[in-house]
Amino acid sequence: MSYPSFVPHWIADAEVPSIGGASFDKRCPIDDRVVAQVARGGAAEVAHALSAAAGAAEAWAAVPAPKRGAILGRAAQLLREREQEFGEIIQVETGKPWKNAIAEVGSSADLAIFMEGEGSRFYGKTMPSPILHRTVQTVRSPIGICAGIMPFNSPLAGVAWKAFPALLCGNAVVAKSHELTPYTAVAFGRLLKDAGLPVGVYAAVQGYGPDAGAPLVQDDRVGVVSFTGSSATGKLIQKMVSERAVLAKVCLELGGKNPFVVCDDADLDLAAELAVASAFVDAGQRCASGSRLIVFDRVYDAFRTALLDRVARVRVGSGPDDECGPVISRASLDRLLGQVAGAVARGATVLAGGAAVEALAPGYYLRPTVLEGAPASDAVSQHELFGPVTCLYRVADFDEAVRLANGTSYGLTGAIHTASHHRAQAFVSRYRGGLVSVNGATFGAGPHMPFGGVKNSGNGFREPGTESLDVYTELKTVVINHNPAQV
Ligand code: NAD
Repeated sequence: MSYPSFVPHWIADAEVPSIGGASFDKRCPIDDRVVAQVARGGAAEVAHALSAAAGAAEAWAAVPAPKRGAILGRAAQLLREREQEFGEIIQVETGKPWKNAIAEVGSSADLAIFMEGEGSRFYGKTMPSPILHRTVQTVRSPIGICAGIMPFNSPLAGVAWKAFPALLCGNAVVAKSHELTPYTAVAFGRLLKDAGLPVGVYAAVQGYGPDAGAPLVQDDRVGVVSFTGSSATGKLIQKMVSERAVLAKVCLELGGKNPFVVCDDADLDLAAELAVASAFVDAGQRCASGSRLIVFDRVYDAFRTALLDRVARVRVGSGPDDECGPVISRASLDRLLGQVAGAVARGATVLAGGAAVEALAPGYYLRPTVLEGAPASDAVSQHELFGPVTCLYRVADFDEAVRLANGTSYGLTGAIHTASHHRAQAFVSRYRGGLVSVNGATFGAGPHMPFGGVKNSGNGFREPGTESLDVYTELKTVVINHNPAQV
């Protein structure tokens, strides 16, 4: 097992403890065991990481983009070679089933390969000018230092999705690990070092959000803050940056309350299969999870039967064949149980799950849970729960389905199941979200696909894809005047 008993910071290519030696426990969600002590960082460790980044940023920015890309290509190769090691780290940190942990390693390597290619493109534009003897073009410039603040749900993808494009664009990166998944970003630092990244260009600091995240966001040397996490923290980050002496670019990738619409002409078995995947993969701890199943009245009963049949067969556990792992912490499990109980007290019915899996205690496993009868305005229908809980809603027709789909403060992803391309196209037009899936799951990102949300799900940026270069570079417009008389 590759998990260390002490999780340090990674600064200037070295593992370092906190200056005063403070630490906190890391527990494994599979069995509640304390697996490590984690260095508890604060302003001093952040300052150390930022000094290292500031010292390394300029030289890194001067490396030609294709050469920066080549280092990411080597990182991809090393990730594939170390698939087992990273899979084990991800599994100890999150408890997710093995195939999902391994899939995260593969998709992170794919992203590095994609970004390697972007190093050889890194395109700007040329534009005509109405002024004679003038050329206008845009070039992409590195920003300087990027702060990457990460969620816990996919720790390797979380750091890779920020660091690979940020590094390709010529920035130094200071990553703030999630306190519940701290070691992945350190192992990632060692991998980048082995791939040839110069000293100091990437650092990872450990600690709680207000201790280690806030001083990073508030430091005027940070030119871009890339945050993935809850909408509430995202808004706080935006506010902190706006109060700095010097502004910075802020990229927010936030939560979702994603609708999964089943029309009366849908393939109900396929829809049930994909509704279950949408709701319960990664124990529902995905920004793109399908937490609202909106079903036409005419097929509601038939879909409900197919859904419950499939939910009863979901394999809960963290083994090779399991589908739904534990949630991240005891606090998260208790919160989810309380949210389900609250919904029931306000009139909802539990059709499946609603309780912890006693046989897997003290692991933090919640039975895949389906609720019915919660009003659309209820907290359980409006707020992201981030766990294996989904709600069924009955609607009369397409218009009501679209109204309900758009009826929360979020707008991340949405799916529609229908045989009609007219309905599918109308949903694509009318659903306000960053990703729409037709006859598929509510998730489905790839290294080349821009992903992000609207409303409380994001502030307009997209990661990854070519669009992520817009997060991590400044566009500089270059106006060149020349004089034919001097040729
Ligand atoms: P969170 O907001 O609680 O924490 C995210 C990060 O912010 C952590 O590293 C945390 O330490 C840090 N943080 C907390 N308070 C802070 C502060 N005051 N200053 C600076 N940093 C602070 O979110 P979470 O529970 O870890 O993650 C789950 C959320 O992430 C869900 O809402 C999920 O939908 C979202 N998410 C979004 C995407 C996306 O691409 N849109 C992807 C994955 C997860």
